[in-house]
Amino acid sequence: MKFAMIGAGAMGLRYGILLQEAGNDVTFIDTWQPHIDKIREQGGVYVSRDHEDRHLTEIKLETPETYDDDPDMYIFFTKQMQLADFLKRCAHFFKPNQYAFTCMNGMGHIEKLQQYFADDKIIAGTALIATVLNGPGDVDFMGKRGAGKMNMANLTEKPDEMTHRLFDELDKAQMHPTLTTNFKGTLMTKVIFNSVINTLCTLFEIQMGEFGNFDKAYDLGRQLIDEAYDICERAGITLVSTRDEEMAALDHNTRIDMPLHYPSMYQDMIHDRPTEVDYINGYIAELGREHHYEAHTHIFLTNLVHLSEYHRANEKKARDDAAEKTAAALKA
Ligand code: NAD
Repeated sequence: MKFAMIGAGAMGLRYGILLQEAGNDVTFIDTWQPHIDKIREQGGVYVSRDHEDRHLTEIKLETPETYDDDPDMYIFFTKQMQLADFLKRCAHFFKPNQYAFTCMNGMGHIEKLQQYFADDKIIAGTALIATVLNGPGDVDFMGKRGAGKMNMANLTEKPDEMTHRLFDELDKAQMHPTLTTNFKGTLMTKVIFNSVINTLCTLFEIQMGEFGNFDKAYDLGRQLIDEAYDICERAGITLVSTRDEEMAALDHNTRIDMPLHYPSMYQDMIHDRPTEVDYINGYIAELGREHHYEAHTHIFLTNLVHLSEYHRANEKKARDDAAEKTAAALKA
C-alpha cells in the first residue's frame, strides 16, 4: 500500500518505518524544521530499539507544502493541539477516495478529521506501543520487536476492504492489531487508561513502574476510573473493558510490561512543550459536564498539570533571562 505519514515524530516514525520495512511505499510529512534539517543532513533517521542498535534508516521526507502524491491512506500522528494546523496545511493534496487513519491519544481529533474526510474513510485506534523521539532525526522504539499491540475501528463501525488491507499491513509490521466494531468505546477505553498513567507519572516525573509499585496505586487509579466509567455510562458509551479489567491492565502495563517507560505526556513536559491533558482528563471532565456529572478528580488533575506547565514555563523564562544577562555582560 502507499502511505503518507502526517507527523514524523516518535509514533509517525515507528509506524511508518515498520510499514516501510513490511514492503509498503511510505512518505513522511513533517513541519518541525530542526527535525527536517537533521534528517536531510544525515540522509535518514537514526533508529534504536531500547537504546541499542542505533542505525541510520533512509526515509522519504516532505513538508505539507512540497508533498504532491496520491497515497491510499494518510496516517496521522501529531499531538492533538498540532492537528488542526497540519490538516489546514495538507488540505491541498487530500482527495475524496483517500483514507485517514490515526492512533493518537486523547479525544478531539476525530471531529477535526471529519472536516476533511468522509466518515466512511476514517479509521482510528489506540496504540499500546511506546516510542521516544530523543531529538531531531533520532528515534527510540521501546520494547522488543512485536511486543506492542493496538486496536482499530471504523468510524462507521463497518469494516470495508481497505480496513482489512490496512489490518493486514499492520499485522505484517508486527503491530498486533485487533479490529473492533465499537468505535467510541475503543477510543475512550484508552483515553481513560491514559488519564491515570500519563497524567500521574507526568505530574510526579516518575517511570510507570514506580507508580505501579506504589501501595496506593490501586486507590489512585480506581478513583479516576470510577469517575470516567460513571460518565461513559451516562453518555451511552460501551467501553471495551470492565472497571476491574481496566484496573488489571493498568497494573500489568505499569509493573510488568513497561516499568522503565515514561509516558509520552512526560516527554512533552520535560521538553517544555504543552501536554495533551485537555484532550485526556480534560475531555473526560467536559463529557461529564455534558451529562450533568462533575468529574472533580479529573478537573483537579487537569489543573495540576497546567500548574506544572506554568511553573516550568516560569523557570525556563528565568533561565533564559539569566543567560541573556550573562551574554550581554560578556559582550560589554
Ligand atoms: P511527537 O511529539 O514525537 O511528534 C508529533 C509532532 O511534533 C511531529 O511533527 C514532530 O516532528 C513534532 N515535534 C517533536 N518534538 C518537537 C519539538 N521539540 N518541537 C516542535 N515540534 C516537535 O509525538 P508522538 O509521540 O509521535 O505522538 C503523536 C500522537 O501519538 C500523540 O497523540 C500521542 O499522545 C500518541 N501516542 C504516543 C505514544 C508514544 O509512545 N510516543 C504512544 C501512543 C500514542
